[in-house]
Amino acid sequence: MGLYFLGNSRLIGSGRCKHRLLKSVGIFSGVLVALFLVLWVALALAVRYGPPIDVDSLYGYNTSSSLFDRHGRLLRSYLATDERWRIPVAENDVSPWVVQATLAVEDKRFRSHGGVDYLAFLRAFRTNLMRGRIVSGASTLTMQAVMLDQEKSGRTLKWKLRQIWRALRLERQLSKDEILSLYLSNAPYGGNIQGIEAAAYRYFGVSAKDLDLPESALLAGLPQSPSRLRPDRNLSGSLVRRNHVLDLMYRDGLIDESALRSAKASVPVITQSPLPREAPHFTDMVHSRYPRVTRMSTTLDLDIQHLAESKLHDAVRGLLPRGVTNGSVVVIENSTGNVLALVGSVDYDNKNYGQVNGALAIRSPGSALKPLIYGYAFDAGVLLPQTVLSDVPMSWAGYVPENFHRNYQGLVRADKALAWSLNIPAVEVLQKIGIVPIVGFLRSVGLTSINGKTDRYGLSLVIGSCGVRLLDLTNAYAMFSRGGEWRPWRICSEDPVPEAGFVPRSWSFDDSGKYLPLAGLKHSGSSWFVLRALSDMSLRQPDEFAPNLSGLKNVAWKTGTSSDYRDAWTIATEKYYTVGVWLGNYDSKPSRALVGASVAAPVALEIVQALQLRSSHHGGNWPFKPTSGLRSVSLCAESGLPVNRGLCSSLDTGDAIVDDDGKTLLLPRSCSLHRKILVDAATGFEVCDKCMAGKATEWKCVSFWPVQVQSFLKVQGVDTRPQHSPDCVSFQRAEHPRIISPVPDGQYIEDYSRAGSMQKILLKANYPLGATEVWWFANDVLIAHGSPDDEQWWIPKAGNYLIRVTDDKGRADTVRVTVDRPE
Ligand SMILES: [Zn+2]
Ligand SMILES: [Zn+2]
Repeated sequence: MGLYFLGNSRLIGSGRCKHRLLKSVGIFSGVLVALFLVLWVALALAVRYGPPIDVDSLYGYNTSSSLFDRHGRLLRSYLATDERWRIPVAENDVSPWVVQATLAVEDKRFRSHGGVDYLAFLRAFRTNLMRGRIVSGASTLTMQAVMLDQEKSGRTLKWKLRQIWRALRLERQLSKDEILSLYLSNAPYGGNIQGIEAAAYRYFGVSAKDLDLPESALLAGLPQSPSRLRPDRNLSGSLVRRNHVLDLMYRDGLIDESALRSAKASVPVITQSPLPREAPHFTDMVHSRYPRVTRMSTTLDLDIQHLAESKLHDAVRGLLPRGVTNGSVVVIENSTGNVLALVGSVDYDNKNYGQVNGALAIRSPGSALKPLIYGYAFDAGVLLPQTVLSDVPMSWAGYVPENFHRNYQGLVRADKALAWSLNIPAVEVLQKIGIVPIVGFLRSVGLTSINGKTDRYGLSLVIGSCGVRLLDLTNAYAMFSRGGEWRPWRICSEDPVPEAGFVPRSWSFDDSGKYLPLAGLKHSGSSWFVLRALSDMSLRQPDEFAPNLSGLKNVAWKTGTSSDYRDAWTIATEKYYTVGVWLGNYDSKPSRALVGASVAAPVALEIVQALQLRSSHHGGNWPFKPTSGLRSVSLCAESGLPVNRGLCSSLDTGDAIVDDDGKTLLLPRSCSLHRKILVDAATGFEVCDKCMAGKATEWKCVSFWPVQVQSFLKVQGVDTRPQHSPDCVSFQRAEHPRIISPVPDGQYIEDYSRAGSMQKILLKANYPLGATEVWWFANDVLIAHGSPDDEQWWIPKAGNYLIRVTDDKGRADTVRVTVDRPE
């Protein structure tokens, strides 16, 4: 650019006759002046009355799509439709050096001319005339800016006039700063780099607003010969040109001599790699959602992204020998729902599955849904943290009996059952709520991948017999740290910020089309119950991964392990951030290493620790107890249910949720555990009206646990309920064996969540007096045989069974059970 056709130098001959020559020159000059005048008038009219230039379509149709992190750092710039990198900038978005250097070398009177620099024009005309060839173009920045998209070949007088007309016209339409921005956004800087911003990132790895003097001068010199001077290929050539630009700046008084000297002495480091490609899975998400946006600020925080990437890489590198090849991490800012980091896989460039975005992959969450199920149960008022649930071997398989005997008494508080991730109590909680409401709730808090017919989901939901996305699940947990308010996750500035009380529309219908107005938990107390259970180290399993990370404090987390060891999860939430981690293989290959608590929890908690160490405002206790909406209530210490005065012997206090109208939320019905029975004062045996005659009797208060719990407690030696008097004929005659385990009409699901466990069900019955030998059958196939006191186990396959037990007196009992394999 710069060498423009301004006239035909051959018009001026060598001249044989001075007189003729003078006459020719006179005529020629006259014609020329007339021509200029005509052109001038024509141009002036055209500029004044001609059609305006469509500035938007001048270059706008093919800019790159550039995405920035929340601090304005370039994450990624997608090529424009013409395969160019073109990142528009505003004049005040570039370093002042860029403006000064560009004007010094291209158009020093830019601020004062009206689009055409007539002074430079005349000088160029004279120079070209004297040299007999075209050496100077006198093209202003405005003239260049309007023709940057035009073919450079075939520059004719018509082309030149068109350029002048457009420049004059543009000056009427835009301010000087806007014209400068247009130029800086579209000038060529070598290869497919167009515009100063793309050039600054490409060659120096910084934004154009961060360019220093030598860098600005170097780039300002490129547009005249971009392919010859591009600094990554011709550094010395570009430095010669840079020093020329610096000289011009010195000449124009823009820099002093010492600045000139030090700028000339500096040797730049030129980036050889292409433009940045940070957070590739995340930027792909934003780009596919907003493909045509030119510049967009996203919610990502590049520092946190790098932190998440490095923690995930370290973890997967260590797990590779054990057959774990991939993982994902999501970090969400609680206050906004903004996604601060999203790592879709360990290596975007890996040919196998590298571009799969694990944060959006639908995977089985294992036990990671339990906090949501408990939270909903607390919110619905069917459960308190102190509510005692039964965790007994009869109702479930898949535990190690030794552990069981050591750690359990068959009864466990709800908060501990959640912290320990016990399956049997979770099933009990799910049964209290019902499948339909819980599925509706899970959808309403963004787990939209749980989109099958509600009847598809059964009690095995508690161990993750459904599919969820890491991003959605992490975002659902952020709800707890927000006191129950659910918000949709956001990835960029264009994503809507929900109003308070926001109700999601797209997934707010259940199977029958009924509107489900739920979005989050109504009572902040229920979120607090969940967070307290998951953050209190004294409630957790002693052998669980114990984070001994300095600086880590006040964090609640839950792990998950899918069936067959295919997915390991941990979601950790604290005051400001929620971190979700998934580890697994995209070909779904299982690995024994894929246990949430042992591999995913360390990654999530290390990220939380690093986030907490970054900021100083993490002091104080967390989670906070809500200042309102809770009321202290009296509970039965044995059952955790509201006290039944006169029968419950030991009392406890706890918090219950108070509804908006000031009433204590519909509580679990009051304790019905205790009953008074009549006993023989001499022997302690229970008596009935058939056998009490002639005995001294008294009332005794005893605990009536469900039959399977009762039996378990008996085995443990902690059952206090007396036997019926052995001399009661009526009681004996009426009796037959009563099967305690399997549970009548029980639905059993194989449980893979505990390493080393055996999938077996206890065969247990209460036998009447006189039974000495018993036989167990499953669909008439003998499965066990022994004395009534033996501990018998059955290892079932999936199917429907009629279980029958018979004693040696021919007395029998039957139950039906189903054994399912989780999906
Ligand atoms: Zn009680
Ligand atoms: Zn009796």
